[in-house]
Amino acid sequence: MSKVTEEIIITGIPISRGVAVGKAFFFTLSDDDAPEFVVSHDDIDHEISRFQRAVESSREDILRLQKKLKEERIDEGAEILDAHLQIMQDPLLTVAVETEIRHTRKNAEFVFESLIKKYQKRFQSIKDSFFRERFKDIQDISRRVSGYLRQSVRVSLADIPPGSVVIAEDLTASDAAEARGNDVAAFITRSGGATSHAAIVAKAKGIPFVSNANIDPSTFANEDSLLFIDGRTGEIVINPSEETLEKYKTIQDKVDQHFQKMQKARALPAETYDGYHIRLSANLEMVNDLDLIRSYGSHGIGLFRSEYIFLSGEEFPPEDVQYEIYKRIVQKINGMPIVIRTFDVGGDKQLKNQQIPDKGNPFLGCRTLRFLLSERGVFKSQLRAILRAAVDGEVSILFPMVSALSELIQAKELLSEAQEELEAEGLDYVKKIRLGCMIEVPSAAVISDLLARECDFLSIGTNDLVQYSLAVDRGNQALQKYYSPTHPSVIRLIKMVVAEANHHGIPVCVCGEVASDPRFTPLLLGLGVHELSLASRFIPTIKNAVRNTSIVAASQLAEKVLTLSSAEEIMELLTDEYRNNVPEDCFFNC
Ligand code: PEP
Ligand code: MG
Repeated sequence: MSKVTEEIIITGIPISRGVAVGKAFFFTLSDDDAPEFVVSHDDIDHEISRFQRAVESSREDILRLQKKLKEERIDEGAEILDAHLQIMQDPLLTVAVETEIRHTRKNAEFVFESLIKKYQKRFQSIKDSFFRERFKDIQDISRRVSGYLRQSVRVSLADIPPGSVVIAEDLTASDAAEARGNDVAAFITRSGGATSHAAIVAKAKGIPFVSNANIDPSTFANEDSLLFIDGRTGEIVINPSEETLEKYKTIQDKVDQHFQKMQKARALPAETYDGYHIRLSANLEMVNDLDLIRSYGSHGIGLFRSEYIFLSGEEFPPEDVQYEIYKRIVQKINGMPIVIRTFDVGGDKQLKNQQIPDKGNPFLGCRTLRFLLSERGVFKSQLRAILRAAVDGEVSILFPMVSALSELIQAKELLSEAQEELEAEGLDYVKKIRLGCMIEVPSAAVISDLLARECDFLSIGTNDLVQYSLAVDRGNQALQKYYSPTHPSVIRLIKMVVAEANHHGIPVCVCGEVASDPRFTPLLLGLGVHELSLASRFIPTIKNAVRNTSIVAASQLAEKVLTLSSAEEIMELLTDEYRNNVPEDCFFNC
């Protein structure tokens, strides 16, 4: 695409609602592209020495290789490597990279690879085949130096210019977790699904997100070009005109006003208009977001995704470190209930150095409880930390991705072992703790009667339940049309689980992304769900949806939904109902 200054409209898939305008910031566009980020003034020297070290390591490699070639009497090869050494030490290259790092404050690999690309263009325009061949040498060197640089880089969205629209091939949960709401105006990716963990974090932070959008740096006239993104519709406008910016402002004002109006509902009870109380709790990923929990009027924390305490780290934190974190949270929420889910690792949430056997699809592999039961030391230290922190509050433990009764039993046995150890060591811990089981796999839904007998509550994780019921990778944007939370099978499974929980007299919560979508609220209530756990910023919206329905109307809606045979029909019905009940919601009705 050529560089143009007129408006370009691209439509992607809406992932996280909200609208924003900002400047493009390209962040790892593909495996072949160097990550691009801004380094702070203090880190410029560090960045330059990183480049110098990479050159030095590459030089040592070449010298070693050259020695080997000489020993094997491959003189021609050794001479080519001489040329490589010369190019690598050529100030035209090294000084240029260093100057450019100082000048642009961009990271070394980005600057280095951009320069190499410039050389490439120049060499390609030369007719003489000798010079054209020399470019291959440069490419070879480039790969070597880049390899060293990329190994030592710690790419982070924590330090980027304010108001950036981050454009990436895909984002990981920890990328999104590191992004600061004030700096990141929006995310645009080429791939990544609506319930990927990056999407969940973006929604929790209120960062608009559109995926499946094909944008590359050549689309932009210059570095200051603006982008307008509408995370409700998936619309992206590059180089927006004054008129579009005006339109953006109007939409933004409307969305803000709606949010403020919703906020007023936060102190009101989450009650249907026929007086039925629904418990609305918050999902928590980043400990820093704890303050939000209270401000949005949550009952407590219905799902703490504990793996986020180390996702951008390299190893599992030791028991004492975890204990301090859990204790701090428990004390900070001051008496509110909290459900700590044990580490959900694997799938799209990996530790940097994690040794998870990753043959095949990680979502169908040694994920979560399977991993924890095979790494009993890791699991036990987490259970011990939670049991100790629970002394200060109302804490429950939730086991994710249970797929068989035996897994729940083994997890409970390990918990008893942890308690016995703490007793023997004379440490303070709770002797009785509420235990919950996540229903995220169809097998668990089908045996929810058996599971319900062995625990104190159930929590339905619809993000995974949809993925595993429909055999659709939740992170794969290309399959999004198959990823349907309104699929009749999913709704029947939810109904089945709720019926079993009720039958065994234990509570059941829904904590997947559908809990934060007000179009689903009457259906879930109608199916008998009494508790929802969701990103705290959506609690007022869901409270409003609860207050705009009655349990009678919700039950009738659920009955009607259960007679429909396709996901599309059900979604249409839920959308129409919501439009009728809450027409003023410009966030979901657009
Ligand atoms: C779910 O699967 O719905 C869930 C809440 O867990 P997570 O999104 O963390 O996999
Ligand atoms: Mg899950």
